[in-house]
Order: sequence, then C-alpha cells, then structure tokens
Amino acid sequence: MNHSYYALRRAVERGDTTFTERVESFLQKIYSDNPRLNALLEVYDTEAIEAAQNWDKLYQRGQPLPPLAGLVYVHKDNIAVAGHRLGAASRILEGYVSPFDATVIERLRNAGAICIGRANCDEFAMGSSNENSAYGPVQHPLLEGYVPGGSSGGSAAAAAAGFCHVALGSDTGGSIRQPAAFCGLYGLKPTYGRVSRYGLIAYASSFDQIGPIAPSLQELIAVYEVIAGFDPKDATTASISLEPFSHEMPPPKRWAFLLPKGLHSEVETAFHSLINKLHNAGMEVESVDFPYWDYLIPTYYILTTAEASSNLARYDGVRYGYRTQEASSIESLYARSRSEGFGREVKRRILLGTFVLSTGYYDAYYTRAQKVRRLLYDYTESLLQRYDVIAMPTSATPPFRLGEKTQDPIQMYLSDLLTVYANLTGHPALQIPLQGFIGLQVMGGLFAENRLFAAAYALDTLAQ
Ligand code: GLN
Repeated sequence: MNHSYYALRRAVERGDTTFTERVESFLQKIYSDNPRLNALLEVYDTEAIEAAQNWDKLYQRGQPLPPLAGLVYVHKDNIAVAGHRLGAASRILEGYVSPFDATVIERLRNAGAICIGRANCDEFAMGSSNENSAYGPVQHPLLEGYVPGGSSGGSAAAAAAGFCHVALGSDTGGSIRQPAAFCGLYGLKPTYGRVSRYGLIAYASSFDQIGPIAPSLQELIAVYEVIAGFDPKDATTASISLEPFSHEMPPPKRWAFLLPKGLHSEVETAFHSLINKLHNAGMEVESVDFPYWDYLIPTYYILTTAEASSNLARYDGVRYGYRTQEASSIESLYARSRSEGFGREVKRRILLGTFVLSTGYYDAYYTRAQKVRRLLYDYTESLLQRYDVIAMPTSATPPFRLGEKTQDPIQMYLSDLLTVYANLTGHPALQIPLQGFIGLQVMGGLFAENRLFAAAYALDTLAQ
C-alpha cells in the first residue's frame, strides 16, 4: 500500500477510499504491531475516527478541505494535547492530564490533521536509544533486537511501522535526526526559534525544537510549514517570514563535508560513495577540517544538564503527577517524590547540571561552555559563507542492539557526537536516509530550511 498522504488525498478524490477507511487501516496496523514495538503509549482511536468521518462528510458535501485534512500523525509524549495524558515517559508525571494544546498541535488541528496517538520516548527526552522510558524500551520496527534510536524512538518507530503519515518529535541534541536515521526516515530539526515550544515539556530550553519525522519529504515539508512561524506564546520564536518551499529552488552547489575519525566502516563506505556521486554530478564537494570535535560532547552535556537541572526543579510532588506516600515533612515530600519519580538517567543529569552551576564551578564549566558555544556558532557561520550546506553522517554507527550501551553512559553520550552540533549553534539540520539505516545530515544557514529540502530532492534525483 502507498502510505503517502497525497496518494490518499487523490484516492479520496477519485472515490476509491475515504479518510475513515485510512484511519481504520492505520488503527489495525497499530493494534497488530504496537504490542511488540511499544512505540505508542496511548491510541486515540475514537477521536481519530470521528475526525476522519468529519472530513469525509465535508468532502461529500462538496465543501473545501483544509490543506492537511486527514493527514494522520502521532505526537511524542512531551508535547501537550488538551485532555490527554502527558508524561515525558516519566513516572513523575504519572496521572498528569494536559489542560491545553501545544501550539504545534493546535496548528495541525486547524490544518485538518488527525492525531492518532502518543508516542513513547526516553524519559524527559534524555537518551539516544529509547531505553530510558519508564514505560519500557521501544523495539526497532524493521530490525529485531535493535534500538530505534532516541529519544524520539517511539515517534520514529511509529512512522516506520506504518502507524501514521508523520510523527512529531523533539530534538535537543539529535532526538529527531538520529532515530529518523536509525529507522530509514527523514527528520528535521528546524532552526532554533522557527517552531514554537509552547506546550513542549522543557529539557534544555535553549536547545529544544519540535520537528517532523516522515518516510516522505513532501509530507515532512507540509507539516513543517504548518507548525513553523512566530507564536506570541513563545518569546523565542522568530518573526522571520516563512517562504513555502518550491521545486524551483536551485539545489545547493557547494558542499562542505565534516567527517570525524572513528566512523563505522559501513558509514565510511556509504559516505565515500556519496561524495563521489556528488562530485560526478558537478557539485563542489570538499572535506573540511573541523577543529572542535573534542569539544562538542562536553559542551553539550554541560549546558543541557545545567538547563535541565533548572527546568526539572518544578517536579516536586506537589504541583504535578506523582507524589510519594511516605513523606513526614515538606523536605522529605520533595526528596522522596523526586527520588521515586525520576529514573536513573534523569537523576544523573540533574546531579551533573546542579554541579556545573554550583558556586566555585560555574565559571570553570558553565561559563566556559557558553564561550565554546559562541566559537562554534562563529565557525559555522564562517563555513556557511563559503559553502551552501554542511554535510556529515547523522550517526557514526548504524543502529545498535538493545542493551548494548545501557551500562555505559559515556558510550551512549558519544553516539550523539554528530547531532549535538546543530543544537549548540541553532542551525537547521535535516536527516536524509542515505542507504539502509545510515543517514546523511545536512545543515544550512539560519532559517534556510528550504535549502536543506532542495538538497534532499537533489540527492533523490541522484539516487535514481
Ligand atoms: N541523546 C541526546 C541526549 O540524551 C539528545 C536528546 C534529545 O535530542 N532530546 O541528550
């Protein structure tokens, strides 16, 4: 079956099917495969069917349909949907129901899209394999025994398993791009400030962005164009206007490749053949020296844990979700609720973040990391003066096995080497499936998402 939304829309117009039938077939797939994959934590079956019936009715009456009528999507468990559970896959938010919609959800609803479920993820979006969820790990839908990537692993697995047309994820250091790569999909981390974070549970506020994951570029772009743009509810969104993507846009010509040492041999081979292809197609391709590899992971983990330790201070057992049964004083209520409610990885990061912000260490770690962040930004801008896009692998390795890295947090952190870069500088980055479960990532100028889409279409043509 062709899973594309646009194919569905044409079939509905020919009278071959209905939006309701399509939602029902997604639901069947979910009922049959989700128990094994654990990609969705909740399925909104009744609501999804009702919404689809509504579009079918309007269509039959000859009324105009909104641009994404009947497009089916899932949201990550850190994006708020009014009246539904919201948990960031953490025990500490047990029982919490969101009273409001995130801006992205509201915009998709107004565009006619149908939300079919809530996707599993790493707790508070901290992780690279979706093994840190309080609701159990997500399985890779196409490689048994492997991780789907993280932290938006449930979103990527749902999109790859045929549960929806598009999945929403969030990306603080790669959590859209890396699982999209591991599952053979497209995934976009928009420019910082392009998409509203209103209604996104904060992990590291100066890094977080919401974005789409999808098997097809056309649908990814359509969803991006609906969710992007200024939002008065998020003061960090930019009021820079959004030009709709057009196929007239020329493909980027000058490509800078960043290839760190230690790439897995399959990744290395895939990239050498890609570089040759681009070269033969007349592109200007250069392998560029990058002096900052050793600084990316430390800088990212200092700054994000600092921000996380502050963002997560609000979970105190009083205001939301889980509260301990055993408290004898207000201090023990806080301490016990947090000890029992947060998982291991989240606690590790709160400790690390509190440490780097503490008196006596603040300048040595936090201030220094901010300076490195600035250097990285300046260097990236200087590269983008000379090149149209910066390209690199999305992950240094193909997907790994479940359990392979859980005992070694440092190994897990190192797997984010190539993705944290774009969040440190704020530039947009698009994951493009290259071959199998190996992905190519292209970064471009601030708010130049369209150039990345043009790059992806150019590669598509090359591959044919
Ligand atoms: N794996 C990275 C981390 O654990 C990225 C997470 C993310 O982008 N949300 O921080």
